[in-house]
Amino acid sequence: MKYTVLTLFPEIIDAYFANSIMARAVKRGIVAYQALNIRDFAHDRHHTCDDAPYGGGAGMLMMAEPLGLALQSLGIVNRLDAGRESGDALSPTAALPPTVALSPSAARRVLYLSPGGRPFDQALARELAGENELVLICGRYEGIDQRIIDGFVDEELSVGDYVLSSGEVAALSVIDATYRLLEEVITPGSLAEESFSGGLLEYPQYTRPEKYATIAVPELLLSGHHEHIRRWRLRKRVEKTLRVRPDLIRKGLDTGIFDREICALIEELQDKPEKAGHSEGEA
Ligand code: SAM
Repeated sequence: MKYTVLTLFPEIIDAYFANSIMARAVKRGIVAYQALNIRDFAHDRHHTCDDAPYGGGAGMLMMAEPLGLALQSLGIVNRLDAGRESGDALSPTAALPPTVALSPSAARRVLYLSPGGRPFDQALARELAGENELVLICGRYEGIDQRIIDGFVDEELSVGDYVLSSGEVAALSVIDATYRLLEEVITPGSLAEESFSGGLLEYPQYTRPEKYATIAVPELLLSGHHEHIRRWRLRKRVEKTLRVRPDLIRKGLDTGIFDREICALIEELQDKPEKAGHSEGEA
């Protein structure tokens, strides 16, 4: 998987790729990335990338031209230009700085991170993890010129119903949620029962010491009885999902993804609020 990030702050992206599991994935060749500095594609003396919006209003907007040139340097065609004569404002390719060459046939998705986009969730993370390359455009200020969205972007993605000051953190969320789903990055077992797999949240987990601040680990987890532990964990997943994310339960029921055991637990637990505290060791 290759990630190409268009940003005014490549150092934020570089720092993320240089650390921890991601750094290892890059070293092992499972993941490749480049952070393109949009400012390198602004050719005035001050490398200006923003201007006031037409029609007035607060704040500045990222200009179309530097972003368009950055995208074209990757071989991405402006749909609005297709079939038109060259020589307009967005196609002076001779002025482009060098970037990593890409096969034009490579399967890639051009995504603009935006609070107005399609909600990004685990299902979409799984889908995007199947692409060869994700090109992620990070906005700043009041966002980007609409003509870039209309001309180049395949999809706008939102990481939540709140407004961040810039797209870098959102792009890194998409990168982080997708690369860990690639084969060989994380052991498949870790992914199998984590939150959102099978439409449920994760069960509570404990590690040493057995007693912390007078609270003991549920006894059943120390029993070594695998079937009891499995049932306890499943029950906890259903309990928590019912309490915190009833929308996931409704969705799972509507789409028929829950097996008989989960449906029975839902029926049993839905009118019964989860007990507080940590004494539940029941099977
Ligand atoms: N004026 C924009 C609006 O009202 O939709 C908000 C612009 S925001 C201050 C600046 C940039 O942060 C956006 O262009 C986008 O790239 C990023 N951003 C902010 N919130 C986001 C979210 N929830 N999901 C994805 N990107 C977000």
